[in-house]
Amino acid sequence: MTSDEERGPQRTCLGCRKAFARKDLLRFVLAPQGELLVDYKGRLPGRGAYTCVDSGCIAEAIRRRQFSRTFKRELLPVADDYIPRELSRQIQERISGLIGMARKAHQLLSGSSLILDRLSAGAPLAFVVIASDVSDGIGEKVIGRATNRSVRYYRMFEKEFLGRLLGTGQRSVLALVPGSLAAAIRVELERYQRIAGEY
Ligand SMILES: [Zn+2]
Repeated sequence: MTSDEERGPQRTCLGCRKAFARKDLLRFVLAPQGELLVDYKGRLPGRGAYTCVDSGCIAEAIRRRQFSRTFKRELLPVADDYIPRELSRQIQERISGLIGMARKAHQLLSGSSLILDRLSAGAPLAFVVIASDVSDGIGEKVIGRATNRSVRYYRMFEKEFLGRLLGTGQRSVLALVPGSLAAAIRVELERYQRIAGEY
């Protein structure tokens, strides 16, 4: 098998015009009324148009009218922040699904004292997520200990959102055990950070 076949089908980003594996690109489809839809799961029927998961490439594709060209029709105008908001919402949904799977697979830890203990004990952790509205004391402690142990951390989402992901009350800190779920969640967190920083 050649490396091209291993990477799967390729598509060209309408923004930067470079080719990438389809699974690494963001898919868009056109609703019957001419509205551009973000198809994050890549499952909506119909012809697809692709960009990098990058607001610069999306903006460039819009500016150069690449979507209308691909779908061969005028697009219904949408609010400027429609795509980043819709994309953020769909990435959140994906993160939520993956966190649910990690929880069931016992690959997720939550709560600052448990995670601080695990960090001190040198337990293997893929990464830590610290709520943006965590109290300064806890935030500094977790960040300090994670840094000491060379465990990557993400400071994002609010306590309430993290709690909702876990189906509990507010949660300030969660951590993932290394594995394929942790790797998949990390990709989504980094995409979310890139996109959500844009509005
Ligand atoms: Zn691109």
